[in-house]
Amino acid sequence: MQKPARPTDDLARIAELHRYDILDTLPEQAYDDLLVVAAGICGTPMGSVSLVDTERQWFKAALGVRMQEGARDTSFCGHTILDPGRVLVVNDARNDPRFHDNPLVLGEPNIRFYAGAPLVSPSGYVAGALCVMDNEPRQLDAFQCESLRSLSRQVVALMELRRANRQLQHHLQERDWYEQQLHAYQLLLEQQNDELAIQLGIDGLTGLASRRAFDVELEAAIGRAALLQQPLGLAVIDIDHFKIINDTHGHPVGDCVLAEVGEQLRRLAAPPLLPARQGGEEFVLLMPDSDLASAGQIAERLCRGVREAKLSVPITVSIGVAAWHIGESAHELYIRADGALYAAKRGGRDRVEVAA
Ligand code: GH3
Ligand code: MG
Ligand code: MG
Repeated sequence: MQKPARPTDDLARIAELHRYDILDTLPEQAYDDLLVVAAGICGTPMGSVSLVDTERQWFKAALGVRMQEGARDTSFCGHTILDPGRVLVVNDARNDPRFHDNPLVLGEPNIRFYAGAPLVSPSGYVAGALCVMDNEPRQLDAFQCESLRSLSRQVVALMELRRANRQLQHHLQERDWYEQQLHAYQLLLEQQNDELAIQLGIDGLTGLASRRAFDVELEAAIGRAALLQQPLGLAVIDIDHFKIINDTHGHPVGDCVLAEVGEQLRRLAAPPLLPARQGGEEFVLLMPDSDLASAGQIAERLCRGVREAKLSVPITVSIGVAAWHIGESAHELYIRADGALYAAKRGGRDRVEVAA
């Protein structure tokens, strides 16, 4: 018996076969179908889609053959892969010096006739063969031979499709991984932004000064007002019926409206006026150099401006205004402005009240 020679590029050829990642996979209808068509055209009872691995041939599809794999050295397909350009036809194995004493000829499955078309990959390596076999000697006409070759190209096309599909899956998984990383990174950045905003005294949602920063500014403003004997106004601004907005449109829309109110306050109260978010849906406004009358006017302008602004959800605000009294603490000033705010709420909302 003549063992099949090894192609000179056998290592690269096997590497190419392994890149298909197809060895030892389950049977698939598409390969079985091509094999049935091949055997049907050639009129043989047996056939296989045989992939020639390092030391074995493994069958992706088998017809009339009970084995799943066999030794490469006794395989017919081991010979077929030696010539990528030719269908190997053995009309009667008993008369062929390469096969006459082959165990597949002497015993099961008693091969007499064999025809194998090499499975040639696009880069020219032969992965195995599409072959048909019979227990009887047989001839193959030119049409049958060409059909077998055509079908072998279809087998390779299936294998290529499999490889492309697996690459795609791989890329998709990789993309998912990158997206997860990106998301985690974004969360980290947001967290760092929040921390930075706190350090800088900025309210994260509205971009206005935070309560802590405002308290510092208010103390400083009172100091300056006392020193320079200047007036100082403070307004406490509260969104009317804000709970209804959350309840009706959801918390995210509520947040959006808060941010929009922040934007309006920045627009309507430019420096030296200093708006800030006190907490929740309550804002404050420091009005340096403003007595009660002008602070009231600023507050009226603000109240109207918010009412007329085009927000995601229309809202109104109630405002309490107080002017600083000499000797008064920041807390006392705030309490009086807050008292005026409650008067505005009681008075029907969407209005300004000034503290006596
Ligand atoms: P009033 O006119 O009397 O002020 O009524 P109101 O509904 O505005 O006042 P209330 O104090 O009953 O409700 C304030 C609501 O503001 C309740 C709370 O869920 C909501 N709120 C506070 N902080 C936030 C926030 O950061 N985002 C959102 N979306 N809602 C907030
Ligand atoms: Mg409110
Ligand atoms: Mg409130």
